[in-house]
Amino acid sequence: MSTANPWVLVGKVTFGKGLFAKQDIPQGTDLGQVTGKVIDDPEYTSNYCIDLGDSLSLEPRTPFRYLNHRCEPNCSLYLLDAAYEDGSPAPSEVHVEALTDIPEGAELTIDYQWSADGAIECLCGSNKCRGWIVAIEELPQLLKSRARAAKKASKPKAKSAPKPR
Ligand SMILES: [Zn+2]
Repeated sequence: MSTANPWVLVGKVTFGKGLFAKQDIPQGTDLGQVTGKVIDDPEYTSNYCIDLGDSLSLEPRTPFRYLNHRCEPNCSLYLLDAAYEDGSPAPSEVHVEALTDIPEGAELTIDYQWSADGAIECLCGSNKCRGWIVAIEELPQLLKSRARAAKKASKPKAKSAPKPR
């Protein structure tokens, strides 16, 4: 049973659920495999899905479904090559690794690294918060397109201002 994970437990956070350390976790610990449904659809997207490359996404099951985003995370996902029993390549396994020593009771977080077109505002409260849930390398692109959108939006307003005669 996946709920028997010794490291993590699901708890409540302000906006839903989160994942917490069940005990002190040393840096580098493999907290387990993210299991779930593998979906082969390049268009597939959801709030929780993990990109496995090519057209594959993983829709995670509990408990790792509840890993929230933080711009300064204490965990990260990594991919392990996997194979079927006959040796042919299978979708990669996704594991969660502790990036730092994590004290019991702390919330576990990862950096979602979303692409700019899926980004939403971030409220993680970290000192290094980027302001958006977005991959660090996509941030300049996001800010540029936001600035363009803001410019566009403000144009009609300027035009509609009555001209003094
Ligand atoms: Zn943030």
